[in-house]
Amino acid sequence: MNPRLNTNSKSENECYWCGEIATGTEHVPPQNLFPKGFRKELITVKSCKKHNEDLSKIDERMRINIIMLSHTSKVARKIFEEKILKGIQREQSAGLGISVASTILEKPEGGGYIKVNSQHLNVYIEKIVRGLYYHNFGNQLPGTIHHLWNNFNDLSLSANAHFYYFELEKKYTEQWINGNCKNKEIFDYKYHYCNKEKQFFVIMNLYETHRIIGISIPKGKNIEDYGVDIEKYIKQKS
Ligand SMILES: [Zn+2]
Repeated sequence: MNPRLNTNSKSENECYWCGEIATGTEHVPPQNLFPKGFRKELITVKSCKKHNEDLSKIDERMRINIIMLSHTSKVARKIFEEKILKGIQREQSAGLGISVASTILEKPEGGGYIKVNSQHLNVYIEKIVRGLYYHNFGNQLPGTIHHLWNNFNDLSLSANAHFYYFELEKKYTEQWINGNCKNKEIFDYKYHYCNKEKQFFVIMNLYETHRIIGISIPKGKNIEDYGVDIEKYIKQKS
């Protein structure tokens, strides 16, 4: 089955993720990443409560993580100073401040790491990947979602799977479709649906700092089924 084209199905009142009756609208990616002046033609999809409101705490938490890791971006810096810092300093959100501070690990040579709840990270990206698929094809993306994010190390991922991700952009050169985003300083993406593998691929950029590759995996398979055999690959090339 090929993905349905983006025709009239989007007018149906169904959730982009599960297909249940929608109760609201969800921004893809979350609107809280876009400061005023950078909200031109944001992408939205319809959503049920479970796949929107119920995930809003994760959205807020992930926004703090992403912005703290985007210090080279002028816009991200501005949001950090004007919104996040003030938010954390408010007395009512003392809990949030303490919890954010406890996730920062300082490096002895300066700078630091941020420890992120991997479940939050996965749900956050899954939401964006599913939203972008629905936005472009007008139906729900089947299978599971996996991703690789340049600024978060996934220690559970094998070297072969990492290699698969590194090769992905080249593998489908010419076939990527530009998402044509209007606020590229904040978010940009390109995507490709592979009919042969029944897989959706999306390469995203946040704050010109984070490069995230999201993929869908058909039922019954997992990421390690796609690991490129590095030795075989090198032999082919030589
Ligand atoms: Zn839903």
